[in-house]
Amino acid sequence: MSDNVLSPSSVSAGSVSPAPVTVLGAGAMGTALVRAWRAAGHPVTVWNRTPARAEALAAEGATVARTAAEAVAANRLVVACLLDDATVGAALEDAGLAGRDLVNLTTGTPAQARARAAWAEARGARFLDGGIMAVPPMIGTPGSGAYVLYSGSRALFEEHRAALAVPAGTRWVGADPGFAALHDVALLSAMSGMFAGVAHAFALIRREDVAPKDFAPLLASWLTAMAPHVHTAADQLESGDYGRGVVSNLAMQVAGGATLLRTAEEQGVSAELLTPYLRLLERWLAEGHGAEDTTGVVELLDLRRDGARS
Ligand code: NDP
Repeated sequence: MSDNVLSPSSVSAGSVSPAPVTVLGAGAMGTALVRAWRAAGHPVTVWNRTPARAEALAAEGATVARTAAEAVAANRLVVACLLDDATVGAALEDAGLAGRDLVNLTTGTPAQARARAAWAEARGARFLDGGIMAVPPMIGTPGSGAYVLYSGSRALFEEHRAALAVPAGTRWVGADPGFAALHDVALLSAMSGMFAGVAHAFALIRREDVAPKDFAPLLASWLTAMAPHVHTAADQLESGDYGRGVVSNLAMQVAGGATLLRTAEEQGVSAELLTPYLRLLERWLAEGHGAEDTTGVVELLDLRRDGARS
């Protein structure tokens, strides 16, 4: 990870007592956060809509608040990890947010994060949005690679950075409160495409005498080998030259795409996961970009582009 990432193991408690934290939400992720802060000695006040889930954490030293407003009143640093943005608004409706530092680790869209920031600031709170790049077992586990993307109030981020770095690494992505969600959703969207490809690949071999467990290592190493292509794509996007550093041109890839589709048909596998991407490549080829890389399809995806078709 880069220099602006503070990993959980790189923060020592030092001589300062661990800061008290309020956590709203004791779902799978909220519970993992509470446990990580408790394990590092932070006093934690927790609230959950269904009290039993929060009460289970009392045995681990957390203080259980009866209402979200009571939990918010308990500590300056308030971390929300609820189902969605609407839930955050509903839970905090009656809470006194003036003077509070609200860190929202609930997954949402960039626009929701920006609106929630304005909403919190209008109530006198500082606001930081976060996108958790981890699953609960990675939280509070040094070396797990877990990190949280943060954007919004830089002052809040710096002031609470040591506490924020306890459950996962911290990565600052900008003052725009929508940027954490933007980065989070962009990464998840890429993952979604990868999982779609993995599902298609397993569907192709499924009815043959190929063991999924024999195929899986090939698949993992192939995806890993292809991953660095993102750096070539970034270079092409920044230079505006989609012909720079091309190793497999678009015309060849479209021809290869026909083989992928024919193989799906031969194997009796639906091509519904493959077709949308391959159709985009064909459209870009028809616009005369055969000698370039595939990166230019981002232009076809841009609905604000002049003459864009959806
Ligand atoms: P869970 O489904 O386990 O927990 C959801 C939480 O939201 C619970 O505390 C639940 O309370 C609360 N909640 C749901 N609806 C309401 C409501 N109407 N009013 C008040 N509280 C409500 O989800 P997670 O803990 O896994 O996820 C929490 C957030 O973390 C989500 O935004 C998720 O996207 C994000 N996240 C989760 C990851 C994961 O792998 N789990 C990974 C990265 C991000 P109750 O117990 O009463 O139902």
